Amino acid sequence: MSRFKFFPISYDVAARVVVVAGNGEQALQKLRLLVRTEARLVLCAADPSADLAAFAAAHGIEHIAAEPDARRLASAALLFIASGDAGDDARLALIARAAGVPVNVVDRPQISDFAVPAIVDRAPVAIAISTDGHAPVLAQKVRAAIEAMLPPAFGRLGELAAGLRERVNLRLGEANRRRRFWSRLFDGRAAEAALAGEAERARIIALNALDAAEADAMPAGKVFLVGAGPGAEDLLTIRAHRLLQTADVIVHDALVPEAVIAMGRRDAERIAVGKRKGRHSVAQGEIDALLVRLARDGRQVVRLKAGDPLVFGRAGEEIAALRAAGIAYEVVPGVTAALAAAADAAVPLTLRGVASHLVVATGHGAEGTEPEGWEKLAAEGATIAVYMGKSVAERVAARLSAAGLAPATPVLAVENAGRADRRLLAGRLAELGGLAGRADLTGPVLILIGPAVAAGDLADAEPFAASLAAAA
Ligand code: SAH
Repeated sequence: MSRFKFFPISYDVAARVVVVAGNGEQALQKLRLLVRTEARLVLCAADPSADLAAFAAAHGIEHIAAEPDARRLASAALLFIASGDAGDDARLALIARAAGVPVNVVDRPQISDFAVPAIVDRAPVAIAISTDGHAPVLAQKVRAAIEAMLPPAFGRLGELAAGLRERVNLRLGEANRRRRFWSRLFDGRAAEAALAGEAERARIIALNALDAAEADAMPAGKVFLVGAGPGAEDLLTIRAHRLLQTADVIVHDALVPEAVIAMGRRDAERIAVGKRKGRHSVAQGEIDALLVRLARDGRQVVRLKAGDPLVFGRAGEEIAALRAAGIAYEVVPGVTAALAAAADAAVPLTLRGVASHLVVATGHGAEGTEPEGWEKLAAEGATIAVYMGKSVAERVAARLSAAGLAPATPVLAVENAGRADRRLLAGRLAELGGLAGRADLTGPVLILIGPAVAAGDLADAEPFAASLAAAA
């Protein structure tokens, strides 16, 4: 993942001096942007164009008919250099640096301390788009998309909030209650009124809502059991994404990748509860108790699970604990590993005339001695999706053979299904045991077995045993 060279921050310029140095169009462009701020603007232009001089005069901008000097710069918050001449730009940048004032030189990022992002202006709401200077045109596209998304009056929501903020802080002591109040406010009637330009009505509705919120006892929290899908950020459902954005706490398994967890609300608390083969993990009973405790504290909890929460996700135990404790919950489905693995190789899980059942099984179920129902179904042509089957691949193959499945039955194993770093391995049932010895497969592995697998795109798949791969 790449990191930011330019960190987007919001800088307080109210009543502070911001200097623009330059005589022409570039200086004028910067001033047009800066008159949207509360800064005290100073234009340093020895020989300003007629347009520039007129603009400065019309906006009450102080005009000094000389280059900025060290003394003037010492008290400035920011300096914009737009001389249009490379030599002058560099010389002024040196003076500024000596004076310790952050400088932006138009079109010369190499000698600038800061960059000006593309801005969507809905003051007091500002959306800044930066591409670290790599793709200004991309930034413009993002800006256009956001412009279209936010009505021109969007800033009125910010104004509504500005007028209420102090009172809300005073009356709703607890951060979670405040957040819930604001979240409801921006979705409700007060927001509608504000957007319609009825500021006073919006304020009255909001104050009534504040009374209600204050009178309300601590509302109970809720637990959302959310499927994160196989690990690619864009295989998350929109609902899962929305819930992640509003969660107070995210309780996640080790199988859910960092990039997906990072999509949650920035200041949500994140709790990792392990569950990765062979590593220390929190006992299921403790997880159940944790969820109950968090919800009782009034928090919105997202219990984020790999794939789908109801497929080998131990959601059953968590739901039972929540029910017993009388806590509200909701399940949000996700793309389970079997579906992601099938998609990776375009394997039809059901295929007319070939496979009419899909069996979801766990490799660990194969450790018992009694044959299970799924093994018999396999013999009848079903497609079998085996979860947690890599380390017991040999046992799975043996039991399926014993149940009557042909040794030549096609098998596909997918490591990191659904992700950019997925690997496909394919072969016959008789070779499946070779998978267990593959120490290089460190990600989760899903195994698909059955005649329908042969209809997939398996040309690029490697064989199961590493020795076969080396020989090939
Ligand atoms: N609830 C999850 C399954 C959890 S059990 C789901 O619906 O997908 C853990 C097993 O799921 C792993 O051992 C592996 O067999 C499978 N698995 C989960 N994510 C996977 C992925 N991205 N690629 C391949 N297998 C995966």
